[in-house]
Amino acid sequence: MPELPEVEAARRGIAEQLLGRVCTGYELYRPRLIAASTGLTLDAIVGDPLEDVGRWGKYLWLVFPEVALLVHLKLTGQLVARGSSIPGFAAGHPVPPYDAPLPHKSTALRLDFAPDARLYLTDVRHFARVQLVLPNELPETLAALRLGPDALGPEFTLDALRRGLARRRGTSIKAALLDQTVVAGLGNIYVDESLWFAQLHPQRPVGSLKDGEVARLYEAIRAILAIAVPIGGAKILNGRAVPTVGEFPYVHGRAGQPCPRCGAAIVKRTIAGRGTYFCPRCQPEPTATGAPVAEQASASVPAS
Ligand SMILES: [Zn+2]
Repeated sequence: MPELPEVEAARRGIAEQLLGRVCTGYELYRPRLIAASTGLTLDAIVGDPLEDVGRWGKYLWLVFPEVALLVHLKLTGQLVARGSSIPGFAAGHPVPPYDAPLPHKSTALRLDFAPDARLYLTDVRHFARVQLVLPNELPETLAALRLGPDALGPEFTLDALRRGLARRRGTSIKAALLDQTVVAGLGNIYVDESLWFAQLHPQRPVGSLKDGEVARLYEAIRAILAIAVPIGGAKILNGRAVPTVGEFPYVHGRAGQPCPRCGAAIVKRTIAGRGTYFCPRCQPEPTATGAPVAEQASASVPAS
């Protein structure tokens, strides 16, 4: 958290409500938010309009004429916009609550936009970072991150997923999907959700996946994002899922609860270093050869 759907919610909010507005000032509450010393400062945005906003994977950027802000919300970053001339929006980590008074004690940055809109970056764990780069250097800065295709973009095709996975044949599918060079934007929540949707055990070695299973996984990722993006992401509070659309999220944050597909109790286990949720019945455990123990009888995905 926040992953692609949450960052995309921020991008859309900024695009719809702040794009084109002139920055009238800022308050940097936590100077360590700003990564690296490029000689650039936020003073360069004051008096200039926000010209562009973009996203690739979990990275978000705001482009002003003289400087671009490359934002990564890391584990607990949150972006909230408020003002009497805009509807406002909130995206990212759910703590502090989206309607909490701002600035919060963990607010790191406030950007002001004419005539009265404010964008707050708040982060209770202080891992979020903003890198200041020259606008014409943004493409090479992004390229240096070596991100794979954005999971929501046209570059993320079944072939692209196959190519990405081919480089990670020795790892578990969970680890491979968390690797941002394979596909950009998925994190712990959406990898768990996609693997459940595709009925693949998170510890399946990538090399053991059949062509049909990779195709099923690709469709599952697209399906999960199609549910999560329009609602701004899954709601996970204190490690527990709060269902929003139908049963979504299906497994993440639901240890001990019944699988929405088959009713078996959802299991939580540390896989690829992350607390991982899966259904022990719909997502059969791999054997020593890497293949699943047994193919499940055709269990259908519940309507959302
Ligand atoms: Zn199940």
